[in-house]
Amino acid sequence: MREMEIYVHIPFCVQKCSYCDFLSMPADDDVKKQYIGRLKEEIRQMSEEYPGRPVKSVFFGGGTPSILPGSVITGIMDCIRENFQIQSGAEITIECNPGTLDVSRLTQYKKAGINRLSLGLQSADDKELKLLGRIHTYEDFLKSFDCARKCGFDNINVDVMSGLPTQKLKSWEQTLKKVTGLKPEHISAYGLIVEEGTPFWKIYGYDEETRRKGEQPLFLPSEEEERQMYAFTVEYLGKKGYERYEISNYARPGHQCIHNRGYWDRSDYLGVGLGASSMMDNCRFSNTGSMEEYLKGRTLEGEKYRLSRREQMEEFMFLGMRMTEGISRTDFLKAFQVTVDFVYGDILKKLEQEGLVRDEKGRICLTDRGIDVSNYVFSQFLMDEEE
Ligand code: SF4
Repeated sequence: MREMEIYVHIPFCVQKCSYCDFLSMPADDDVKKQYIGRLKEEIRQMSEEYPGRPVKSVFFGGGTPSILPGSVITGIMDCIRENFQIQSGAEITIECNPGTLDVSRLTQYKKAGINRLSLGLQSADDKELKLLGRIHTYEDFLKSFDCARKCGFDNINVDVMSGLPTQKLKSWEQTLKKVTGLKPEHISAYGLIVEEGTPFWKIYGYDEETRRKGEQPLFLPSEEEERQMYAFTVEYLGKKGYERYEISNYARPGHQCIHNRGYWDRSDYLGVGLGASSMMDNCRFSNTGSMEEYLKGRTLEGEKYRLSRREQMEEFMFLGMRMTEGISRTDFLKAFQVTVDFVYGDILKKLEQEGLVRDEKGRICLTDRGIDVSNYVFSQFLMDEEE
């Protein structure tokens, strides 16, 4: 039976961060209680649809899953275990906000079998954290990190973010230096994207005039500064023993995130909870994003959509090439019974001539220049309908 992954969406946060466009919100205890009941019901229903499949990873994301008491997370994990076949040694991650962690929660997570923590730090500078609307200080993060180590967590990711308003290269360097000093097993380093609809958009969003001139909005680092931050990240994390295995993800040997790798190598994943999306047996489907509807018992938003063979090939290419190891020629052949050159030969030749991809030991991957313009490269793998 084909392996699968489970994603559990916990959409609650203490308050909304100024840059956040995730499906998350503050909520009272009654809504949280109803939500957990409904979530368990969905887990039971989905286990009937996909019985007996071995589960290689579970990921509690949000939102802020750590806002819930440890006993509630244990209850959800018990429900998953009762209904799905969790493989021994499966990676089980929970996303945590430093302002919401304590020994009691961490101890219960451990008992529930959670073996990986993902801590959302974003910046080691308190002024930047405040500007982002985060509920914690750097000191809070240090306490949480220390507490997690003492509770026995030996697989920890730290999320950090560059390109923040008012941020200078020096401060980004400090964030990376402080974080690597703690020796987490994994670091996710993203660049801020100012999303429409967020409070940041009103302040820093591109107005037409700025966009026309190709300039950055006031207070955001310039393109040159952003490039410097990016170059520093790649070089510094490499020097500190973190292997870059995906565009924004770095890990010490043996600590790549199994769950996220699953998204890029097209493993089946089932998302449960508000707005969660799934890809099972080449069918894509998403849950409703309306809390009211979800609590009433409606789950799916729209119909399940079966990807055509063409769409599966496209995804194989542009998801697989997010990873620095790229895609395997043999895997493509196995998946589609046709060589990658038969389908993409001309495009790959062109991208190779442009210095954006390279062909190495049966694998095709992005070059450093290719990573810089990855969206352009990925767009080249989209085919016309009739192909
Ligand atoms: S903690 Fe995360 S999910 Fe919650 S509002 Fe902030 S960025 Fe969004």
